[in-house]
Amino acid sequence: MKADDVVGLTSSQPDKHLESVARVQDPINPPPLPQLVEHDDLEDVDDLDEESDGSDDESEISVSALNDELDRAEYEPYEDDEPGPISFTPAEAKELRDRLRRVGPNRFIEQTITSGTVGIRKLVTAFGVRPDLPYSTTWYYRILGLCIQRELRRRQKLTEYNTIDDAVSLIQKSNKIMVITGAGISTSLGIPDFRSTNSGFYSKLRLLGHSNPEDVFDLENFDEDPTTFYTLAKDILPMTGKCSPTHAFIRLLQDKQKLLTNYTQNIDNIEAYAGIEPEKLIQCHGSWATASCRKCKVEVPGEAIFEDVRQSRVSYCQACLDRIETYPRKRKRTSNGKVRSRSSHSDSEDDGRYDVPQPGVMKPNITFFGEKLPTRFFDRLTDHDAAIVDLIIVIGTSMKVAPVSEIPNYVDEKVPQIYISKEAADHINFDITLLGYCDDVVAELAKRASWKIEHENVNKEELVATPGIKTGHWNIGPATTAAAATEQELSVAVEE
Ligand SMILES: [Zn+2]
Repeated sequence: MKADDVVGLTSSQPDKHLESVARVQDPINPPPLPQLVEHDDLEDVDDLDEESDGSDDESEISVSALNDELDRAEYEPYEDDEPGPISFTPAEAKELRDRLRRVGPNRFIEQTITSGTVGIRKLVTAFGVRPDLPYSTTWYYRILGLCIQRELRRRQKLTEYNTIDDAVSLIQKSNKIMVITGAGISTSLGIPDFRSTNSGFYSKLRLLGHSNPEDVFDLENFDEDPTTFYTLAKDILPMTGKCSPTHAFIRLLQDKQKLLTNYTQNIDNIEAYAGIEPEKLIQCHGSWATASCRKCKVEVPGEAIFEDVRQSRVSYCQACLDRIETYPRKRKRTSNGKVRSRSSHSDSEDDGRYDVPQPGVMKPNITFFGEKLPTRFFDRLTDHDAAIVDLIIVIGTSMKVAPVSEIPNYVDEKVPQIYISKEAADHINFDITLLGYCDDVVAELAKRASWKIEHENVNKEELVATPGIKTGHWNIGPATTAAAATEQELSVAVEE
């Protein structure tokens, strides 16, 4: 295999990168594969790989299956219990990835695949991919190309920032802080994470018999029959007037003229209640703040549909209804004087004699599957923030859902990145990782900075920060909790 064949797949020019970021804006459709090597080019190298299974009936492999596999490798890397002939130890794997960065993709391929020192199925385990997937060698080369591409795009940790006090001084000296938030900052308010295993909205829908709960947020389904959404949506209706100490901390950054932009994945619109200025807030998945008519597109404040949502009844567009009122033609009414909805009229009436215009259904402007993400997201990120941001703080999100998960890749790698959450996100190399409840972590940061978070629920207990076992990792919480977290980390490390 010529190095160029694989390297050809791994272009990392900025414009290519931009395309790949842009491609992920559709939450449904996976990004297309980059230009791949023709099958013919690979035939002569199959012999190199003793583990080839020779299968070539793979027209069934879907692009999304391949991408799912790579995501899995990234978030839950494959690790063999007994590394040896078919996989590497974690240390060997890291050495290989470091070598890739050091020598570049051309020489990396030469030193491994071309020289015949390692088989393709073993090599991909250095990137967390399983060696025993039901794919042929040809497909494994495609996977390797994508692995290399992802690895070279991955930002490296900055070695100069490691401690919680480094985090505090970064926050104190930075003036254009990008804050990326997720469900974790709202859970202390009792708002469940959609996807969490037991308490999430999706798991509740499954209990109610919706085998595929994401269908509730499918635009096509909504347009066909909005009643499903309107029957269930009251559970995710945001409460007004409350925010968490973490929201208040972000507001504090704004008050101190330090907040550049808050990108939130939450649709609860609590950032707005916390007083984050609209021009500094990007609701990446939309929100309940506004609702739009599916027919005439008129936009109204979200509150206008809340009562219908609470009553589990479909909300219709008042602007459409008003137009219909003044419609000059003869129209048919139901007995209660309301215009019939499309879903309630029967076929026998649909013969044109009563050509009744129908009002549009209102939809909250949360981003459904099948809808594009707000263009403001990309405009703000690429045209405004990317060039001037001086610190990134990620709070309460596992960073596994695009496009938010792509943001750190898109900013200059010298911009420091701090991560705050209950569990570490090892697929991204943050400089400082502060583990604990977000509300506790921000309370400790504020205390060390001699700042005051204006919120009644800020933890008044004595909090401590104990170093974790990985460089840059800290456990933060009440003394017993933080120490126990570190203990546990240590015991796991000893077992390994
Ligand atoms: Zn309308």
